[in-house]
Amino acid sequence: MTAQGHLFFSVASLIMAHKLKLTLEFTRGDWLHMIPGILLGALLPDIDHPFSTLGRLLRILSLPISKICGHRGFTHSLVAWLMLLIFCYQWLPNIWLIPNDLTQAFLLGYISHLIADMLTLTGVPLLWPLLFRFRLPLLPKKTNQRTERFIAIIFIVGACLLPSDYNIDLLSQVKNILQYFSF
Ligand SMILES: [Zn+2]
Repeated sequence: MTAQGHLFFSVASLIMAHKLKLTLEFTRGDWLHMIPGILLGALLPDIDHPFSTLGRLLRILSLPISKICGHRGFTHSLVAWLMLLIFCYQWLPNIWLIPNDLTQAFLLGYISHLIADMLTLTGVPLLWPLLFRFRLPLLPKKTNQRTERFIAIIFIVGACLLPSDYNIDLLSQVKNILQYFSF
């Protein structure tokens, strides 16, 4: 999928997270924080390709990552996402004062990239280092930019049309599940 497709898809995911009130930050967050966060998260996994949008800007990182991991390898896995999660919440110095809504949008953008790549035939190795590729190939075999943009816009319109009276509150759901399993 192209960078543009990923950006559209990530914006659709953000609108969906906001409408479904996934967390307090997505519900009440500042769009001026969340938009840059989601866009950065959506572009980051392709840093493993020196000719991707971010790869071209950060050649110094993308070249070694692409040599070591290859395209759609480690950076396209849940392991990489979990490491980023830990990095954001444990290692980032508090003094940097990065807003929580930006962090959550960034992490959502990253996940949206993995899901969007799963829609292609190549799929992604979600459970890297296991090489099994997860795919839900809904995108046509030969997708051009126009088709991709068309599908992405459908996602955005679909997200905008979602009713706003849901309240999933992901954090409470996770806490409930953890409580269920604790003795
Ligand atoms: Zn990718």
